[in-house]
Amino acid sequence: MSGKGVGQVDPEPEAVDAQGLHAALLAMEDEIHWDPATMLARAERYERVARHLGDETLVARARLSQANMRMRAGEVADAAQLIWQIHQWAVDHDVRQLTARTHLVWSAIHRHLGDAAQSLEHAVRSVELLDDSATDHMRIWHLAKLADALAFAGSLLAARERFDQAERLTVELDRPDLRLFVLNNYAYSEHAAGNYELAEHTAARLRTLAATHGFELDSTVLDTIGAIELGNGHFAAAERTMLTCIAKYRSTARDDADALPEHLLNLARAQRGLGAYERAQHTLDESRRLCADRDLGHFLVQTHQEQAELHAARGEFAEAYEAHKMFFEAHQALRSRQQEAQARTRQALFETAEARQEAERFREQARRDPLTGLRNRRFIDEQLPRLIGADPDLTVALVDLDHFKQINDQLSHDVGDQVLVQVAKLLETELAAVSPEGFVARMGGEEFLLVVPGCPPSKACGKIDGIRRAVAAYDWAGITRGLRVSVSIGVAGVGEAETLSQPSLLSTADRHLYAAKHGGRDRVVCGAPNPDRTRTYRDRASAA
Ligand code: GH3
Ligand code: MG
Ligand code: MG
Repeated sequence: MSGKGVGQVDPEPEAVDAQGLHAALLAMEDEIHWDPATMLARAERYERVARHLGDETLVARARLSQANMRMRAGEVADAAQLIWQIHQWAVDHDVRQLTARTHLVWSAIHRHLGDAAQSLEHAVRSVELLDDSATDHMRIWHLAKLADALAFAGSLLAARERFDQAERLTVELDRPDLRLFVLNNYAYSEHAAGNYELAEHTAARLRTLAATHGFELDSTVLDTIGAIELGNGHFAAAERTMLTCIAKYRSTARDDADALPEHLLNLARAQRGLGAYERAQHTLDESRRLCADRDLGHFLVQTHQEQAELHAARGEFAEAYEAHKMFFEAHQALRSRQQEAQARTRQALFETAEARQEAERFREQARRDPLTGLRNRRFIDEQLPRLIGADPDLTVALVDLDHFKQINDQLSHDVGDQVLVQVAKLLETELAAVSPEGFVARMGGEEFLLVVPGCPPSKACGKIDGIRRAVAAYDWAGITRGLRVSVSIGVAGVGEAETLSQPSLLSTADRHLYAAKHGGRDRVVCGAPNPDRTRTYRDRASAA
């Protein structure tokens, strides 16, 4: 089967722009066959180029390819952690196609974990997220992977529907190379579900397709076909197929460690089926040797099982029993190893999720004032410029406690703190009542800022004066033993002259605050369209 040539668009780090790297990444992402080690190195190189270019999306894409290769090389826990980070980044930055791709890798990771439901859920998302910017490869590939996930979850009818859709798409988009891939997975799914006849029918279509287009069937596809022939008891055909498969495998310098022992196992099964026990034993010995050399527990278990079958076929029941015992022990050992690996992957995922929550808590904390729980100056500095730019009716009000020093001096610093906390509460509840979208921040010391969106000073000042009165009217006796607490407030609106930046808006509010202090405190000073004409709000009864 012909994938796109690996080396076609492989830029030198120094000589590439973002567009070139995008094309190179796309070629890698749309690759059908990988040698994990080579691809990993390539993806790492692309990440360096992307960093050099300062393009975060390209960095994320290069890292996704790395995660994918790590997963395929068996480093599932590492891959899972990496995927989680990339996935969150893609979601946060709304990079849709990257999110679709991360869902697909998630799906594969959950399949590794044996979690069919999660695997399916992510596969569904990976298809849902495809839009006009998706490549033809993605449309077909994601649909075929969804079909795989459906079959894995036991929904074979639904799986067939998706395989059919994916196949139609390969015809529409004129991608016979991908059609071969779809048919291969289709046939494999039917085989895995024990539907050998349907599997064979699909495998026959696959062969016809390959013959029509002059595609050579690669060892992976031949292995699927051989297994199907075995399932149907066509042992001679299966032996032929597996011999071709193995020859093909040996002729390409691929290095996926576990492919050859698996091919040899299928060959041995075919030979046993033919009654060619000597050949079968010879093949099996080779498979076992490879498994032992490369520490391939999964296939070692299968060689023990096949050995037991082979002894039994020869009537060597004592040996068959011994081999079966070995199979059983190896099977148990493998299971517990798999369970450990799965636990490690789950733990890795859990830790990443925890770390992220922790980071978010931390981020949130860094933007809150610890004493009052209000937003702090940092939050204002981050949010206010945007609000000023977006809302011509935005009003802010600087609130400063009157003679607060006296409270500290005459009572205690602790009482001062309690007053600050109570003022914060009053400001928050009173503001929420008149401006649900508004919020309060502690700017530092005994100074607060009210932010009132969508409400120019002409409308906001009356409301703000209500807040001032609520502070003065609060029953402070419980905290201050009769000492009065009041606030002075300076208001400024974005619509006023020279208030289109945060510094000028706040300095206008500060000027008005100063006027309020100067005018006798416990009052609100509002800017008017003409800055010379300020308006003061305060109670008639206590007017000076
Ligand atoms: P004015 O009406 O002119 O604003 O008078 P004032 O006494 O409120 O103003 P001044 O700026 O002189 O004093 C503010 C005081 O606030 C001084 C400082 O010790 C106190 N303060 C600042 N932060 C805190 C705090 O977190 N807790 C307590 N208890 N006091 C604080
Ligand atoms: Mg002050
Ligand atoms: Mg003060």
